[in-house]
Amino acid sequence: MAVTIKDFDVKEKMQWCPGCGNFGLITALKGALADLGKDQSEVVVVTGIGCSGKTSHYINTYGFESLHGRTLPVASAVKLANTDLTVIAEGGDGDGYGIGIQHFIHIMRRNYDLTYLVHNNEIYGLTTGQASPTSLLGMKTKTTPWGVIETPFNPILSAINGGATYVARGFAGEPAHLKELIKGAIEHKGFSLVDIFQPCVTFNKLNTYEWFRERVYKLEDMGHKPTDKKAALEKAEEDTKTDYKKCPIGLFYKEEKPTYEDLLPQIKGKPLVKHGLKIDLSKAYEEFM
Ligand code: SF4
Repeated sequence: MAVTIKDFDVKEKMQWCPGCGNFGLITALKGALADLGKDQSEVVVVTGIGCSGKTSHYINTYGFESLHGRTLPVASAVKLANTDLTVIAEGGDGDGYGIGIQHFIHIMRRNYDLTYLVHNNEIYGLTTGQASPTSLLGMKTKTTPWGVIETPFNPILSAINGGATYVARGFAGEPAHLKELIKGAIEHKGFSLVDIFQPCVTFNKLNTYEWFRERVYKLEDMGHKPTDKKAALEKAEEDTKTDYKKCPIGLFYKEEKPTYEDLLPQIKGKPLVKHGLKIDLSKAYEEFM
């Protein structure tokens, strides 16, 4: 039977604030999985801590809510254990670009076959509105009452320079476009980053849906070629260079490269879970449980 978007629904009521960008984001993700015909048992969604962390509860796949900033190490471990799985890591800008930045850097350069979706709302939402690494200069938050003075982190630029092999940005206010970017990321063999403008309607009163709608445009409409690294790097800086008058969304960069898993002789031919390893964990259980 064909998989439909409804197959990824859960009974649990989503507790995000009404109007939160996470609704558009999760709709795009479920739609992407359905379009690709993924069975729920083939997919693992690993999340960190934050409002985005609830995604693993709200989607009918395997799921794991990890520690703050530790989404990528858990996701990479899942992938190494069973390379047959589609592994999707998700977290917020604070989780991934702040607390977990070291994992982001190393997992990109290793090119694990993972899809990383970052709910980039440019603020810490769950903890009620502190500045995050992507908060814009001058933005007043609970931790920056006189305005942010630190240069915002540029995830697209860092990902292209850091070795990610699929680098895209979407907008939760455009779920149909975002769905296509997520599909491309899942189908890509290698580390895929989809940074997603996800309005936090409760705590970020600067970067609203309207704010994004006035600024975003689609790279594909401008004839951008994702295989052109130089052009991708230029586009990655366009928002800062235009003082956020223009914020491109779409696929910035894509290249084919062997994945970390492809280069590991132990799992090259067969996923680790199919090696029939017999490990007695009873002693460990006795000690730690
Ligand atoms: Fe969404 Fe912000 Fe509410 Fe969190 S606090 S659920 S990010 S609107």
